[in-house]
Amino acid sequence: MTFTLPDLPYAYDALEPAIDARTMEIHHGKHHAGYVAKLNAAIEGHAELADMCPGTLCSNLDKVPENIRAAVRNNGGGHFNHSVFWKVMGPGGGDGPTGGLAEAINTAFGDLDSMKEAFAAAAATRFGSGWAWLCATANGLDICSTANQDNPLMPIDGHCNGMPILCLDVWEHAYYLNYQNRRPDYIDAWWSVINWEAVGERYAKTNECCGAS
Ligand code: MN
Repeated sequence: MTFTLPDLPYAYDALEPAIDARTMEIHHGKHHAGYVAKLNAAIEGHAELADMCPGTLCSNLDKVPENIRAAVRNNGGGHFNHSVFWKVMGPGGGDGPTGGLAEAINTAFGDLDSMKEAFAAAAATRFGSGWAWLCATANGLDICSTANQDNPLMPIDGHCNGMPILCLDVWEHAYYLNYQNRRPDYIDAWWSVINWEAVGERYAKTNECCGAS
């Protein structure tokens, strides 16, 4: 087995005007595809790693042979992170969180607007390239950001330990064509393309680490 690039669950232009078609095409077809290709190259000859799902691979990063660990961290992280990112976006994914997810957001943050404010702050203040995350942890929902292609599943310090249920890519490749240096505008617009049903499903299945694909 090798890792494969998942199809986008919608057309490249489905998220316009928040995210333009050209950005989606390059982001999915070049950037994400590149992480998958480099991940497969890195794990060649390591069948036990190739059989893992992307989330499990990230969770077990400390067990990956040291000579390929950095490549797996960067490209396995890139594969998992983007796989989740495509799934938590979409056209017409509901007006907002419902059910158990809505309750958990209210418990952790007070209300949805407060959660969005904290998430946007995490995304805006991540210096350089990285991701913002909403995670289901043992103590409820939590927000954090990570550098590069790291994610909260990895056994590394400096982030909330939990299952990612919502994430935002704040690498410049995710927004530069349309927004140039205006990352806060990209973050603002992004709230309009969240598939809250998908986020709610991820929250309901937080024990399934393989939820990336
Ligand atoms: Mn990206």
